[in-house]
Amino acid sequence: MAQESLNPFEIALRQFDEAADKIGLDDGMRAVLRTPKRQLVVSVPTLMDDGSVRVFEGYRVQHNLARGPAKGGIRYHPKVTLDEVKALASWMTWKCATVNIPYGGAKGGVACDPKKMSRSELERMTRRYASEISIIIGPDRDIPAPDVYTDAQTMAWIMDTYSMTIGHSALGVVTGKPVGLGGSLGRAEATARGALFCIREACAVIKKPLRAATAAVQGFGNAGGTLARLLHEDGARVVAVSDSRGGVYSARGLDPGQVREHKTRTGSVVGFKGSERITNEELLEVKCDILVPAALENQIVLKNAGRVRARIVAEAANGPTTPGADRVLRERGVFVVPDILCNAGGVTVSYFEWAQDMQGFFWDEPEVGRELEKFMKRAFHDVLAASRRHGVGMRVAAYILAVGRVAEATRVRGLFP
Ligand code: GLU
Repeated sequence: MAQESLNPFEIALRQFDEAADKIGLDDGMRAVLRTPKRQLVVSVPTLMDDGSVRVFEGYRVQHNLARGPAKGGIRYHPKVTLDEVKALASWMTWKCATVNIPYGGAKGGVACDPKKMSRSELERMTRRYASEISIIIGPDRDIPAPDVYTDAQTMAWIMDTYSMTIGHSALGVVTGKPVGLGGSLGRAEATARGALFCIREACAVIKKPLRAATAAVQGFGNAGGTLARLLHEDGARVVAVSDSRGGVYSARGLDPGQVREHKTRTGSVVGFKGSERITNEELLEVKCDILVPAALENQIVLKNAGRVRARIVAEAANGPTTPGADRVLRERGVFVVPDILCNAGGVTVSYFEWAQDMQGFFWDEPEVGRELEKFMKRAFHDVLAASRRHGVGMRVAAYILAVGRVAEATRVRGLFP
């Protein structure tokens, strides 16, 4: 079997090129949209609790600003690289355009192992990183948010560091903040809720009631853990879940609320009572109707795509499926809800949060929920219509829509100077 590239930025470019071919984008526009606008690499010297100093490498990439300020999360993970951040930044551009919110795309990351750092080490590293990237972020320039292993507390530190530097409180500089600090109600659950709306629509397309469906969820963080609970509440049977230490399976179904308690107590979903232990790889091959990769990139690859037994793959993670695997899934008739649509609920409520911050007027939770549902359903059906019109899968359809919108904005703005 041919070796496939697992470089996330190469993958992102392949996905872009496929859509660009379909809509006949000219070479100049193609070059503009393929290339990240700004890439900032910073060193983040941090005082550790034992008195030593460690220097972490941090990144902030702004892929595209044609439709508005750049937007995208910040990731703390030992495997963060510049190419990964470039890919994630470009996926944010296409994601924001898919749900039609007025943002470009960005992403940040620090290569570190947050699980091995104390809270005060994390605070010092975050503040220094925030200060280093403050030369390019801002409420109308580039607005970070949480991503893998960052949360509302991380955002509060960034907001404070930025605000202390400019001399006044800038609520709109980050989203995903604590609700008491200009955060939005419903933001913490938004990625999972947005994915749930997509899954409901996808179930209607394949004519499988969600109540009668089984689901397997890889990743038990903000997206996966919450989505497992929401699927359970919607009547689906969640047969498998996992986290970075491994997975658990039960044909009778797991109660995600109890799994959450177990994880809080023991640090992992592994060992949950009445479940069978499985690996993260095995989880992807579990027989179920809905498979939700909600962890990291490159999980469904050429090697295992043929063994995926789900009818729907709902990508709550960014970049979980390689282009080779995507082709295999499509040939086998699996309905894929692509990442740039499926997990866009997070950035959509980030947009609501930012709009509330800029207005200084806050919404109640039902309003956030209603607006999120409206944005997600509209995007899902826009993508579905494009997929039928062009005779392509949902991923290529989402890219066709998104690339078309960003290209149009670029065209009407014209080339400076
Ligand atoms: N990190 C999330 C994502 O990948 C949210 C980004 C945001 O809210 O800006 O979509």
